[in-house]
Amino acid sequence: MKYFSFAEFSRSATAAEKGIDNTIPFAAKVNIERLVRLILDPVRIIWDAPLYVTSGYRCVRLNEEVCGAPRSYHMCYDEHAAADVTTGSREGNIELYNAMKSSSLPFLELICENGGAWLHVAI
Ligand SMILES: [Zn+2]
Repeated sequence: MKYFSFAEFSRSATAAEKGIDNTIPFAAKVNIERLVRLILDPVRIIWDAPLYVTSGYRCVRLNEEVCGAPRSYHMCYDEHAAADVTTGSREGNIELYNAMKSSSLPFLELICENGGAWLHVAI
């Protein structure tokens, strides 16, 4: 992982506020490392500017707390992992979404959320 850290995948304002331990288990770290290696680091290189993870790993309790989908890949089960990322602007996010959509990156999910407020990407 060149451009991303586990700390930014584990950080959650909701977890902090509610006292939820959102420490990333080893199995989830393996999946996150794969998401970063195969998608996020290459995207960061193409984009050539900072990308920020606004929501990465979610333990089951945190996922429930933020009303995540019951099988959300943010919980990093099986081989999966997900991240919500932003370039810092809606325009940038839409541009990045279009660039990723026309790439051969191996994502399972790529969603431009709330009119470009952030991108959800999962492997
Ligand atoms: Zn998401």
